[in-house]
Amino acid sequence: MAVDISVPLQGRIALITGSTSGMGLETARVLARNGASIALHGLGEPAEIAAIAKEIGNFGVEARHFGHDLSVHDEAARLVPDVITAMGRVDILINNAGIQHVSDVQDFPDAEWHRLIAVNLTAAFVAIRAAWPGMRERRWGRIINTASTLAMTAEPRKAAYVSAKHGILGLTREVALEGAEPGITCNAICPGWVLTPLVRRQVEAKAATLGLSFDETARQHFLRDLPTKRFVETEEIAAAMLFLCSDAARSITGVALPVDGASIVV
Ligand code: NAD
Repeated sequence: MAVDISVPLQGRIALITGSTSGMGLETARVLARNGASIALHGLGEPAEIAAIAKEIGNFGVEARHFGHDLSVHDEAARLVPDVITAMGRVDILINNAGIQHVSDVQDFPDAEWHRLIAVNLTAAFVAIRAAWPGMRERRWGRIINTASTLAMTAEPRKAAYVSAKHGILGLTREVALEGAEPGITCNAICPGWVLTPLVRRQVEAKAATLGLSFDETARQHFLRDLPTKRFVETEEIAAAMLFLCSDAARSITGVALPVDGASIVV
């Protein structure tokens, strides 16, 4: 599905964390197509990242990659200052990088808990804090946090993920209040199942445990309770992100927007 809405973003600079893959990458494409320069961010093979930066640059915008490891606090705290040094400012901040760890609560390792909270929650906080003074001075800013339907519900064996996603929703609401007067909006997108590498790994692990095919596992264990019976597409997430970046969305702030095919209401 192609995203065929357009929003003028010429002259804006957008930092999208976790944009070397999945929905962050698709959002980078859509924002670049609409004129924003892109600070790509995330881990990956240098050759793949160079190809992504080239693809984004082909939209006629500046595209630079930043490889800060968000599980390391000092690197996470340096990301926005380094983007500002290299590209001038951050107008749009999309805190999208995320990881998962699946384990019974009694076996959940400390190290995985801390890593997941660092990447999925603390990195967003330090990025917002660093982007804030510039957005405030210019009286314009767009902050979007990729939460999850698991910011509002829960699922067994995902203690750290569910905690981090509930936390990011609280941070979103808090920042929306502080940004309301100076023109900074802050919203959360809450995707349902999207077939990105993050979810593909979960389907593959379940399929291996059950001895089923990938498609059968997806149908029986991931899509069964979804009213639409299909994965959400990355383009649909990117379209929601794009709209929240627009001037038309300036009064939409502090919301948690599900893009989930009604999975949250069943
Ligand atoms: P993905 O695995 O395709 O991409 C994750 C991105 O985060 C990659 O660019 C990766 O390099 C980056 N990243 C991971 N660990 C990092 C680290 N330590 N330092 C720097 N970058 C790091 O995942 P995705 O499915 O596109 O997920 C994007 C966001 O959407 C995440 O916050 C995830 O929790 C959320 N989400 C995903 C789904 C889904 O079904 N895929 C559903 C709800 C929410």
